[in-house]
Amino acid sequence: SSVSETPTIHALDDATVRRIAAGEVVERPASVVKELLENSLDADASRVTVAVEGGGVEGIRVRDDGVGMTAADLERAVEEHTTSKITGGDDLDQVGTLGFRGEALHTIGAVSRLTIRSRPRSGGRGHELTVEGGTAGEVTPSGCPPGTVVEVADLFYNTPARRKFLKTETTEFDHVNRVVTQYALANPDVATTLEHDGREVFATEGAGDLESTVLAVYGREVASSMIEVDGGRPEPGADPSGPVESVSGLVSHPETTRAGREYLSTFVNGRYVTAGTLREAVLDAYGGQLATDRYPFAVLFVEVPPDAVDVNVHPRKMEVRFDDEAAVREAVTAAVREALLEEGLVRTAAPRG
Ligand code: ADP
Ligand code: MG
Repeated sequence: SSVSETPTIHALDDATVRRIAAGEVVERPASVVKELLENSLDADASRVTVAVEGGGVEGIRVRDDGVGMTAADLERAVEEHTTSKITGGDDLDQVGTLGFRGEALHTIGAVSRLTIRSRPRSGGRGHELTVEGGTAGEVTPSGCPPGTVVEVADLFYNTPARRKFLKTETTEFDHVNRVVTQYALANPDVATTLEHDGREVFATEGAGDLESTVLAVYGREVASSMIEVDGGRPEPGADPSGPVESVSGLVSHPETTRAGREYLSTFVNGRYVTAGTLREAVLDAYGGQLATDRYPFAVLFVEVPPDAVDVNVHPRKMEVRFDDEAAVREAVTAAVREALLEEGLVRTAAPRG
């Protein structure tokens, strides 16, 4: 059959565009937690507490001891496309901070009741600001300690379609827990606490070492089975300008596994990413030593030259693509394999090629 009528192409109205954009950034409580946590880390916090109620659907509070904001900063922070982190297109190539799009607070404020209290660490008074369904109130003085507290209540109260897609409190909390866990593991020098319905789920010390962080997050049984991976040194005669600078972290004994792959965490240049290439590379290193459908714990940091990886595949999904997928995969498998081999946990070195 043939198309008899040409569909008309028209521009979407602003409100629709904003709501579509909001859905891209904020999908569920865990995405709010991710954005707020990134802001706290970008603000140089050494202590961050994430407290959620009802899986995060009822409420989310993120408190940090970071640089804080002045009254003027606060007002600007919730406007659209405002950021203190880049000044123009040229900076986009060299983003060092986690956030840079300047849309998270604005977007969260459009689909919830958002309250921010902040006081600059460098001195000055505290202030607070509330945004309800996209409408910002007045900035008023607030007695708060240095740093920032962001509270999000009634997420999606004004977007029932999106609210309907939320799962049970347990499932939503699982997602929140996963996000906070990844950032806690990626930042052993930041004391990270997670609370759910008033109960502490975990609290890392922030002492800087990965071992105590893994102990706090995953418990003693898992922590005591972890094996150090240190693939920092390139092999003799290897191309020093190869696509992988180092592979380091911890992986579990092949008998310490879970049924899901969510405990297999990979970080590229310090950023948590989901990458099939990295996951498969780790699993390959275990050879046949893992039981069917069982996955090890891993906290693995892969450092690559910034131009060898594309981290902007999708801002929400945290996916990355490498220029040379095969070489990255091989380097990761080799590093993990060597660690397991040293412990006598696998039989032979990784097959070459
Ligand atoms: P982005 O992180 O992309 O810049 P956001 O909407 O997440 O955009 O935040 C806007 C701005 O608000 C940030 O650039 C920062 O200046 C400020 N801000 C947000 N959260 C915090 C925080 N926890 N501590 C200090 N400043 C913050
Ligand atoms: Mg941000």
